[in-house]
Amino acid sequence: MKTLLPTSTAGSLPKPSWLAEPEKLWSPWKLTGDELTRGKQDALRVSLQEQQSAGVDIVSDGEQTRQHFVTTFIEHLEGVDFEKRQTVKIRDRYDASVPTVVGPVSRPKPVFVEDARFLRQQTDQTIKWALPGPMTMIDTLYDDHYKSREKLAWEFAKILNQEAKELEAAGVDIIQFDEPAFNVFFDEVNAWGIACLEKAIEGLKCETAVHICYGYGIKANTDWKKTLGSEWRQYEEVFPRLQQSSIDIISLECHNSRVPIELLELVRGKKIMVGAIDVATNTVETPEEVAATLRKALQYVDADKLYPCTNCGMAPLSREVARGKLNALSAGTDIVRRELAN
Ligand SMILES: [Zn+2]
Repeated sequence: MKTLLPTSTAGSLPKPSWLAEPEKLWSPWKLTGDELTRGKQDALRVSLQEQQSAGVDIVSDGEQTRQHFVTTFIEHLEGVDFEKRQTVKIRDRYDASVPTVVGPVSRPKPVFVEDARFLRQQTDQTIKWALPGPMTMIDTLYDDHYKSREKLAWEFAKILNQEAKELEAAGVDIIQFDEPAFNVFFDEVNAWGIACLEKAIEGLKCETAVHICYGYGIKANTDWKKTLGSEWRQYEEVFPRLQQSSIDIISLECHNSRVPIELLELVRGKKIMVGAIDVATNTVETPEEVAATLRKALQYVDADKLYPCTNCGMAPLSREVARGKLNALSAGTDIVRRELAN
């Protein structure tokens, strides 16, 4: 890609209110059957158009076809019983009633490949597609079959690899794996989490990314952040091994976060999607605030490897706020592009 500082989003964007209840995670669909299928496609078009009119360079489906970034993928797999539910603690943070793994997991048919093909038909821009990461997947399930987090994650990695290869064939340029769990289970990440991620990207020729964040701006996450102290050094635990891994791009949270920016030095050499938009507030950043975050990151990331982005998904925000934030991302990036050109 020739654009300097190509902008993108971490993933989700708000859904139109005729498709799902707005400003909510796991929001139920308002349509059913063929109407739902067409509604999702229309929402994808709207979401793409919002990104394009804001000048976003690397576009996505805005996750318009998914209810949730992890659950929707798992719903399409065999071996998981959604009727049989158990309460577990997700990412050591909040209790949730989750489905149970009752047998060998498999992917009877492609999950997002048709949706990705549809997005590909709508634009010639670089497109990015997000999948859940293996460790984040196992963290939202109760395992009554493998009885080993590592084994289950490895099985999911194989399934994700099948899906990723088909997404690549459908014309996706960047495949991103969302791994917020990488910010919590450091020993496991280093022991086998990154190995599972590398299994998921095995044999891919397109670019690959891993998104590691502090979560959506929902209460459970903002409460958790309050317990993390004045410096968030979680990235320090996993960056050294990630730097050595075969993943191309690392997407992370920077703006308004307490992540010490010098931790980016630990992944120098990788392409970095720098979160310059806070998704946990309705306050829209000024372009100057976005530019300030990017300038800080430029101390540790080479300009040709810096991709301005959002901290996380924007699904729970209003469409107006999300639109304002996308515009701020572009305008702030333009300021820094002009500075770099001088
Ligand atoms: Zn995120």
